[in-house]
Amino acid sequence: MKYISTRGQSPALTFEQAMLSGLARDGGLYVPETWPTLSADQIAGFAGKSYEEVAFEVMKPFIGDTFTDIEFLEIIHKAYAGFAHTAKCPLVQLDENHFLLELFHGPTLAFKDVAMQLIGQMFERALKRRGERVTIVGATSGDTGSAAIEAFKGLDAVDVFIMFPDGRVSDVQRRQMTTPDEANIHALAVDGDFDDCQALLKDMFNDFEFRDDVKLAGVNSINWARVMAQVVYYFTSAVSLGAPHRKISFTVPTGNFGDIFAGYVAKRMGLPIDRLVIATNQNDILHRTLQSGDHTKMGVKPSISPSMDIEVSSNFERLLFDLYDREGDAVIQLMDALKEDGTFALSQGATQKLHDEFDSGCCSEAETSAQIKRSYEDIGEVLCPHSAIAVKVANSIVRNETVPMITLATAHPAKFPAAVEAACGVHPALPERMADLFARDERMTKVENNLGAVEALIRERIGA
Ligand SMILES: *Cc1c(COP(=O)(O)O)cnc(C)c1O
Repeated sequence: MKYISTRGQSPALTFEQAMLSGLARDGGLYVPETWPTLSADQIAGFAGKSYEEVAFEVMKPFIGDTFTDIEFLEIIHKAYAGFAHTAKCPLVQLDENHFLLELFHGPTLAFKDVAMQLIGQMFERALKRRGERVTIVGATSGDTGSAAIEAFKGLDAVDVFIMFPDGRVSDVQRRQMTTPDEANIHALAVDGDFDDCQALLKDMFNDFEFRDDVKLAGVNSINWARVMAQVVYYFTSAVSLGAPHRKISFTVPTGNFGDIFAGYVAKRMGLPIDRLVIATNQNDILHRTLQSGDHTKMGVKPSISPSMDIEVSSNFERLLFDLYDREGDAVIQLMDALKEDGTFALSQGATQKLHDEFDSGCCSEAETSAQIKRSYEDIGEVLCPHSAIAVKVANSIVRNETVPMITLATAHPAKFPAAVEAACGVHPALPERMADLFARDERMTKVENNLGAVEALIRERIGA
C-alpha cells in the first residue's frame, strides 16, 4: 500500500514513511492510493472476536510490510492494555434503536487515546529499528495533547512539544498536559486559539530547514495512522449490532473531521453504513457547508465543548480529495482560497457527493446543556458536552427507524466537570487512577503566537 498526497505534488510514500513524516511536503495530507476492501464474509467473521483481533484485521491492509504480523499484534495488545474496560470501546444502549459508543476508557479519558496509544507503540518500534530520533510537535484543542503526552512520555526516541490555546482548555485537560514530569515532554501555552496553534504547526512543517534540523514529526490527525486506528471501532460496534447483515448509522461530534472521516473510510472498505451524521457545536462551518456548499470561516467562538472549537478542519481536505475525484489541483485551489480569503464554495458535483454520504446538524450552547440534563434525568446517563451534542443531533435529524444509530461518546464527563455540573447538577468524579491530578505540580511554558518564537524555543530545548 502506497500513500499519496491530497495535493498531488509529493512523491508516494510507504506507510512507515507517511506515519513518521505526518504532513506531505506539498502541504497536503497523506491518503492510501486506493481504499482496501473487506468482503461481507470477512466482516461477518469479526463477530465474537476481541477488539485487538478485529483491529489487526482492519488495519493490516494499510500497514503493508512495516511490521510483521507478530510485531503488529504485539503493538496492538500493548496499545490497548491500559484501557479500563475489557471491551476497550463498549456500546451502551440509550433507547430502542440508539446506542452510545464509549470511546473514553483510555488513559486520558478521551477517544484520542485509541489512536495515540497505538501510534506511540508504532513510532517507538519503527524509530528503534531505524536508529533515529524525532521531535513530535502537536497542536491541541485539549484532548490530542494529553493523549500524545501519555503515549510518548518517557520513550527514548522522541521529544514531544504540545501547543495548546492558553486559557481555552479545561483544568483537567491542562493538568493532564502539564503534570507529567518526564524530561522529553514540553507543554506550550500559546497566546491564541486552536486554529492559531494548528496554523503554527502547519507553518513549521512548511519551513523545511526547521523541519529537517529538528526531524519534525506530527501526530495530529493530519497523521494518517491516527485516522486508520479509528476505523476499527466503526467495525467492532457495527458488527456487534448485526452488520454486515444490516445497515448501521453513526453520529459523530466533529471538530477536525478525523473521527468521522474514519467512519467514511470504514464505509469505503465495505462496512454497510447507512448515514454518517456530522454533529457540530456553535462553530458550525461543516454544518453550513453541508447545507449550502459554502465553506466560510466566521471566527471561532469558545464553547463548553472546547475540543470542537475548530474552523479549519484539517481532515476535511481528505474528503475534498475524494469529492473532487482525487484531483490534487482542485484541492490546492480550494485550500489556497481558504487560507487567503477564508472561504471556498464547493462545486455542485462535490456538494451532491457530500450529501450522498453525510447528514449534519449543529447544537447551541443552551441545547448542549439541555441535552446533558435530559439524558441524566431520563436514563441516568451523564454525558460530556461533546457527546451530548452528538446525541442531540442524532435525535433531531430524520432517521430511518429500521437502522440502528450509534452515537460516538468522545470523552468522559469528568474531563469537563464544570459544564456537566452546571447542566445537570452532578459533579462527575475522576476515575480512581487519576484522582490525584489536582495535587500534582504543573510545568508549562507560555509562548507568543509567533512562528519564530516557537521554533526558537524548540531548537533551544533539543539543542538543534
Ligand atoms: C477531538 C475531539 C472531538 C473532535 O474530533 P475530530 O476528530 O477532531 O473531529 C470531539 N470530542 C472530543 C472529546 C475530542 O477530544
